[in-house]
Amino acid sequence: MPRLEGRIALVTGAGSGIGRAIAVLFAAEGAHVYVTDVDGAAAEAAAGEIVRAGSSAQAVTADVSRGQDVTAMFRVVDAAHGRLDVLVNNAGLNVRGDFRHLSDADWVKIREVNLDGVVRVARDGFALLKASGRGSLINIASIMGHRGLRQLTAYSATKGAVLALTRGLAVEYAPFDIRVNALAPGFVETALTQRALKNPGIQKALLDSTPLRRFGSPEEIAKAALFFASDDASYVTGAELAVDGGMSAGL
Ligand code: NAP
Repeated sequence: MPRLEGRIALVTGAGSGIGRAIAVLFAAEGAHVYVTDVDGAAAEAAAGEIVRAGSSAQAVTADVSRGQDVTAMFRVVDAAHGRLDVLVNNAGLNVRGDFRHLSDADWVKIREVNLDGVVRVARDGFALLKASGRGSLINIASIMGHRGLRQLTAYSATKGAVLALTRGLAVEYAPFDIRVNALAPGFVETALTQRALKNPGIQKALLDSTPLRRFGSPEEIAKAALFFASDDASYVTGAELAVDGGMSAGL
């Protein structure tokens, strides 16, 4: 039996990369998936792919850094279903650069999506998750929430905050039967990492510190998200799962 049969799921930033892979897998496992993204055409394309495969999905254009977009996004779900079983806070971006040269504008840009957006979605999605009676909120953090790497300091700061937020929310939302967990991917080949991972020097350094000696795929992250979303994780909340080829276990 499909593991998410009859569930209603929403994934932010699902127009590409990890979010798209999560949406595709959740739909294949029986969920009706709201595929949301700031890029409406990308959301439509991903939802179309899911529907053509015989599963159920709907695209919604929403920028998580805009309060009115998030309100409207949840209103669509509320009107159709009155509940949300699985909510994935996936939308994220990075602005690479030496921290000493970080502009206020770049800091605001990264924080508004990676942290403020996650906070807003987790807060405004509460009522619909509560109505589920078995809600699952999944935050896509990063191994960088624990580690430092040149030119990724601002990104790391937002992801570390997402991990702290996950633990607090797990405690606050538990009385409402909402589980809250985080995934901490290592380096996964997507548009976000494309440029860095194609740089021979960076590629070698990262692979040398990854025991499995390869980068991850979006589908491998999606499988871990499916665990948190499903009843297989019914007693799991406040957890962080590293999906990083062993990177965080090494030196
Ligand atoms: P991606 O391919 O760039 O996908 C991110 C998606 O989020 C894109 O479709 C992007 O749209 C969308 N997005 C950006 N800003 C948004 C906003 N304000 N509101 C709604 N959607 C927005 O990157 P990814 O690698 O799959 O990243 C997904 C998540 O995984 C992020 O939170 C990232 O930090 C995390 N992560 C990734 C890795 C990795 O190695 N790839 C590792 C650890 C954690 P546009 O394309 O139009 O900008």
